[in-house]
Amino acid sequence: MRRTPKKVKNWSIADASELYGISKWGAEYFSINQNGDVVVTPFGSSSDLQISLHEIAKEIEDRGLAMPAILRIENILGSQIKQLHETFRKVIKETGYQGEFKGVFPIKVNQQEQVIDTITRYGRAYNHGLEAGSKAELIAAISMLNNRDAFLVCNGYKDEEFIDLGLSAVKMGFKCYFVVEVPGEIDVVLKRAKALKVRPLIGLRTKLNTQAEGQWSESGGENSVFGLTISQMIDVLDKLKDVDMLDCLQLLHYHIGSQIADIRDIRAGAMEACRIYEELVKEGANMQIIDFGGGLAVDYDGSQTNYHSSRNYSTEEYCYDVVESIITVLDKNNIPHPTIITESGRATVAYYSILLFNILDVSSFIPHPIPEVLPESTNDLLSNLMSTYELVAPKTIQECCNDVLFYRNQSRQLFKHGQISLREKALAENMVRHILIKISTLATTLKHIPRDVHYIDKLLYDIYYGNFSLFQSLPDVWAIDQIFPVMPIHRLTEPPLNPAIISDITCDCDGKIDNFPAEDHDRSRIMLHDLKEDEEYYLGVFLVGAYQETLGDLHNLFGDTHVVSIHVNEDGSYDLSQELEGDSVEDVLTYVEYDVKAMKNRIKGLAEDSIKNGYINAKERKNILHLFDEGLRGYTYYEKDE
Ligand SMILES: *Cc1c(COP(=O)(O)O)cnc(C)c1O
Repeated sequence: MRRTPKKVKNWSIADASELYGISKWGAEYFSINQNGDVVVTPFGSSSDLQISLHEIAKEIEDRGLAMPAILRIENILGSQIKQLHETFRKVIKETGYQGEFKGVFPIKVNQQEQVIDTITRYGRAYNHGLEAGSKAELIAAISMLNNRDAFLVCNGYKDEEFIDLGLSAVKMGFKCYFVVEVPGEIDVVLKRAKALKVRPLIGLRTKLNTQAEGQWSESGGENSVFGLTISQMIDVLDKLKDVDMLDCLQLLHYHIGSQIADIRDIRAGAMEACRIYEELVKEGANMQIIDFGGGLAVDYDGSQTNYHSSRNYSTEEYCYDVVESIITVLDKNNIPHPTIITESGRATVAYYSILLFNILDVSSFIPHPIPEVLPESTNDLLSNLMSTYELVAPKTIQECCNDVLFYRNQSRQLFKHGQISLREKALAENMVRHILIKISTLATTLKHIPRDVHYIDKLLYDIYYGNFSLFQSLPDVWAIDQIFPVMPIHRLTEPPLNPAIISDITCDCDGKIDNFPAEDHDRSRIMLHDLKEDEEYYLGVFLVGAYQETLGDLHNLFGDTHVVSIHVNEDGSYDLSQELEGDSVEDVLTYVEYDVKAMKNRIKGLAEDSIKNGYINAKERKNILHLFDEGLRGYTYYEKDE
């Protein structure tokens, strides 16, 4: 226990909710119940049914699936798809818009079969389709989308085989559109369509001038790699005109980037695209659809701002902006309202996955209490530190800041020159830390806080070791400093007293989380509870359903985690609808091309050789080989002893 913030005394669930921001980023899905557990409201705002994540985590472990695990709540995915469609329907009705809305899910956002299966099941009622960006994704899409009224949109570079696959989908009655991304593609489409005798469904991807702020904005703007410039679009148009196939050109597509935090960028992009659409109609193309791409953002930090981990608009405002842009531009020339497609990936799946892991250990900022008597020492460093500790008071706080930093430096120098021992250095370090905490705690009661205290505050944190790999399960935290909400999923009736950062179990110093959603306190720390002897401490990382799973890698050979999907029934019971075992050690070794059989043989040989040379006996050999066998079959993460 280290800090005594003002809140400790009358700590309540509301304080926990505010501290972790769950009422902001949790949307309608996550909150805290009276027992201090994080609960899921799987049906969103349409029902107040709640289930405890802590209960689920314990049940997962009881079934023999260890932490870490990804938990998917299928109903949340269903609610997100429903929300998008219902909101568009409402806006369409209110504005008198004449077209309809059809969504597609971009497979790249989470390709797992389970995910696509759940999307097509929940999306069926709305004819929610799929977007594919490669041959593999297209084959997956065709095999999963059992619905001819839903759209199949093909983006990405397409070779003949890709196009043949799509054309065969068209032959089978699917609305499969090729979005032409690069100028040469149209020739391949025309050639294969002729060969296979199919009228292709063609779309154009345009490069807009509009460029969105944010992490992913390179995919938009005039200099983006994808899409056609206006003059390239005209070339395609002329080509189609020449072969009398302008009727095949029906769709205009753009994508200015993912996680567009600012609604003004959404609006600007939509308006620009509508103008291009209008011109394509005037050129005689058989235009029917505008595909507004992805970009609908997720408010990861709950700040409702245009900060890159947030968004400054609601889904409803998004829908209004899209619909109104079309009306504003097209009504001037009485152009019929097109079908609207959006390719929302992130917003569709982010909420429905949660990464759960347990804390293995804590490296506490303070290793030991202050010694009652100082050992004999040849210099007065330790006694000076002791005096500084005793001196800390409101009037002397600045002086103590100076002193403690001075003595900290002095202890380093003395050690370097052989004037204090290892044990004396340990004592000095410990004393310094006690002083820093005393200063920092005192400062919370002062009106005027000296600037050095802010510096000192940054030095004070525990390191909590979480049983997970950042590189496997949260790659965007490492790669692009993405913020995800993190918090304990239980014990929230107790005030958390320890400022901390979270380290994973890879031995990479980048494998840490030290950026948290927070408004009024330091973003680089999270407050966590003391560990208890007899109880696991579980944390959840929320909103991880988009992009994290397939982008994750095998750093340090930590493999896929277990995945558990649950489906919550109306009566509050839930079924474990899917359970996928994570990678074993053997699996990950195979991924990096080890031949496990040969490895086993080599280890056998090594053991035999060890007998021959008198290191071990035959019985020890048996035990050792057994250990290796078990090791290969085991989970790649930290496993508790049974
Ligand atoms: C990645 C991508 C999407 C998904 O974007 P989100 O922001 O996740 O909704 C949609 N369309 C295209 C073409 C993409 O490349």
